[in-house]
Amino acid sequence: MTLKVNQLTGGYSSIPVLKAETFDVQDGELVSLIGLNGAGKSTTINHIIGLMTPFSGTITLNGLQIQDDVQRYKQQIAYVPEMPVLYPELTLREHVETTIMAYNLDQSVAWERAERLLKLFRLENKLDWFPANFSKGMRQKVMIVCAFITDAQLLVIDEPFLGLDPLAVDDLLNLIDQKKEEGVSVLMSTHVLDTAEKHCDRFVLINDGQVSYEGTMPQIKERYHELGDSLTDIYLALARQQDRSKSNVKGD
Ligand code: ATP
Repeated sequence: MTLKVNQLTGGYSSIPVLKAETFDVQDGELVSLIGLNGAGKSTTINHIIGLMTPFSGTITLNGLQIQDDVQRYKQQIAYVPEMPVLYPELTLREHVETTIMAYNLDQSVAWERAERLLKLFRLENKLDWFPANFSKGMRQKVMIVCAFITDAQLLVIDEPFLGLDPLAVDDLLNLIDQKKEEGVSVLMSTHVLDTAEKHCDRFVLINDGQVSYEGTMPQIKERYHELGDSLTDIYLALARQQDRSKSNVKGD
């Protein structure tokens, strides 16, 4: 699955938050959106998953835009939000069933996948529990299970590493690797740069709603070699520079 974001301008009111963003995610690639609080990562994701409509520019999944076929577009995406969103009146079993219906999945194939994932995340005995009984991390795992049982060809994961325990983070990274091997593309946003550096194929740096740099780790190191040797060091130096130039503009 190829996701192409081309000259995306968008936001919440008439003033755009995103300004002509262009980047892509290729087949089987794990790409991370990196940016400070308020840079526009979640807004970008909200446009890609079809929750927001661009002011201008295009978003395509293998050439398909949302307006071409809303259902087909949305069925190609599975989304794991930063804050788990579960239906309070539905049990874990009913969440899985709802996903199976929404994505038109084969019952037995999907339940086989679900059982394997529920076991991995130690939720297999909690199928009749309601979200109110789950911890935040457990809710996040339910969302991951629901996303990973689908046949979606693009996985969008907003900040996967903060609410999960270290074992679950490792399991999630392995699951992402398996999906990548099947050709699924993965877009995530994260502030956990050490983990991102180890696992992501490419990085899209977002500053103030614009793509400030896009590249692989070797490309980033080559471009910014004077700033450091790791994604964390390079990104901290870049973010400080950007912050200084913003306050200089404001001071003018
Ligand atoms: P974080 O790392 O804190 O999650 P982010 O990069 O995901 O940040 P966004 O949530 O995309 O940032 O926010 C980008 C800009 O859009 C910010 O200026 C924010 O104030 C604004 N914004 C976000 N949500 C809304 C909303 N619902 N209505 C109006 N403006 C919003």
